[in-house]
Amino acid sequence: MKIVWIIGHDAKEQGAYGNKGVSEFRFNDQLIIEMRHERMFPDKHEYRVMYRDPSISGYKSQMIDLHRRINAWGADVSIELHFNSFHRDEVNGNEVLYCSNGGKRIADILDECLDVLPNRDRGVKKVSGNDRGAGFCCRGQSYAIISEPFFGSHQHLFTRGGELRSLLKNAYKKFLEKL
Ligand SMILES: [Zn+2]
Repeated sequence: MKIVWIIGHDAKEQGAYGNKGVSEFRFNDQLIIEMRHERMFPDKHEYRVMYRDPSISGYKSQMIDLHRRINAWGADVSIELHFNSFHRDEVNGNEVLYCSNGGKRIADILDECLDVLPNRDRGVKKVSGNDRGAGFCCRGQSYAIISEPFFGSHQHLFTRGGELRSLLKNAYKKFLEKL
């Protein structure tokens, strides 16, 4: 399979910040670089890391451009990486967003792999219309999903030296193995 990791948000608008002061963009960018470096991407797939283009104004236009590049490469699966903002909810937990039926199959696999995290399994969520995440998930030719493995109020457990960081990396690795 051809798999694209998309680092959620962009260098200009970095998304939410966790309790260690690390943005969604920076956190996920570092995590994927680290996983690559540690050879945690199984050889059976091909991988690309893609970014939203911060020079394009407007979320929708960014998404159109992003999926144009994802489609041009011929990706089967695309995963946009985020974490949940702790302003919205004090509880911790993981969730995976999807839009299409095919996307649900992929989301279910990731959700199962995220079960190793000792936080609440908030399950998979179908998004559509103007829902948060629908602009990414409901577009393009690949099975597009969004991963939100924890809430920013628990970021300290997932940053470098945090006790759950390697669990999270292993969950993503397991997911790739199962695809
Ligand atoms: Zn986000």
